[in-house]
Amino acid sequence: HGKKNKPHIFLPHLVASMEEVEETYIMVKPDGVQRGLVGEIISRFEKKGFLLKGLKLFQCPKDLAEEHYKDLKGKSFFPKLIDYITSGPVVCMAWEGVGVVASARKLIGATNPLQAEPGTIRGDLAVQTGRNVVHGSDSPDNGKREIDLWFKEGEVVQWTQAQAPWLRE
Ligand code: ADP
Repeated sequence: HGKKNKPHIFLPHLVASMEEVEETYIMVKPDGVQRGLVGEIISRFEKKGFLLKGLKLFQCPKDLAEEHYKDLKGKSFFPKLIDYITSGPVVCMAWEGVGVVASARKLIGATNPLQAEPGTIRGDLAVQTGRNVVHGSDSPDNGKREIDLWFKEGEVVQWTQAQAPWLRE
């Protein structure tokens, strides 16, 4: 009755169709690193079940910060934002998963931590927009763009989690 054959070999990493799998760039900002929140923030994405593909501690140069936030160049807070992002090391991450871009934004919470829901990273761990501890890409296209911007070739690893069959049927 027109039903497509399922793969007869159990290959859990192939079950989600390729166009559903997205990548997002997540970054613990300098305040999150200085406040000792790196483990806590990584842990939220890890526990949710997304796939960590890239991870590094990094001192962001000014030109990279400006390129990353180029869409905000006209804003009054732009110079302060660049100072903030370059004020100390950040933790750069590439995460993969079905729907990971929107889901990560939900886990992170609203830009203003006072408006972010309890249970979100910003809702639980921050109080001010200018110190909101974490970044997450706002679209799958920006996820790709930002991962290419922050990681060099070879720093993003393709692998399959042992827990994959316990996350997706
Ligand atoms: P988000 O990080 O939630 O995607 P935006 O893309 O609007 O938010 O802004 C990028 C970052 O710029 C914010 O996370 C925050 O660090 C900073 N920012 C945004 N708006 C302001 C503001 N009014 N004052 C200071 N910093 C701001």
